[in-house]
Amino acid sequence: MNKTQPFDNLIFDLDDTIYMPNSGIWDLIGERIFAFMRQHLPDVPEDAIEPLRDRLLKQYGTTLRGLHEERGIDVQAYLAYVHDLDLSLMLKPDAELRRFLSSLPQKKYIFTNASKSHAENVLNQMGLADLFSGITDVADVQPYCKPMPEAFKLMLQQFHITDPKTCLYADDNLPNLATAEALGMYPLYVGRKQGHGFTQVERLADLEALLPELDDIRL
Ligand SMILES: [Mg+2]
Repeated sequence: MNKTQPFDNLIFDLDDTIYMPNSGIWDLIGERIFAFMRQHLPDVPEDAIEPLRDRLLKQYGTTLRGLHEERGIDVQAYLAYVHDLDLSLMLKPDAELRRFLSSLPQKKYIFTNASKSHAENVLNQMGLADLFSGITDVADVQPYCKPMPEAFKLMLQQFHITDPKTCLYADDNLPNLATAEALGMYPLYVGRKQGHGFTQVERLADLEALLPELDDIRL
């Protein structure tokens, strides 16, 4: 980014944004969530677990928030269980992304609906951990979660950011981007979907080629 570039802060979602969605990690987390629910909701028949999870996810934004609100599930116990993954076979150091992010003078942050330890695992596995100034996880924004605006406001507070307009926010989730945009951040969609109207890259590293254009958009 050049000196006229207006963003001071780059805020990134973690899962399927920092790494590509074909990693297999989300499938594994899904299996862990299913196993956790089986274990902690003995009154729910096995074939009702998936539909319950779908409903909670839709209604509350994350399965966790739904389980906490309706079933009193302990947030830390859930997060520790579902993110207890060996990521070494699924993620490797990303030298290209590291070089690109290192070249940017802005402060970089992670904002995730997952747990801090999962974020640290992912960033360590990819060799990126030292590039980020902070991580806000879902426990930090309780009782909210993305895409709720309250969650974004708590995240900004945690990073001591007073003006959302100084932020670029990157995510693979469209509702999260809509909230970020409504609050004044510049939304960047990371993924392959079309027809949403957001500026888009397929991989985060592709942002490098787009930066000159973003300068034009913002100035
Ligand atoms: Mg994501």
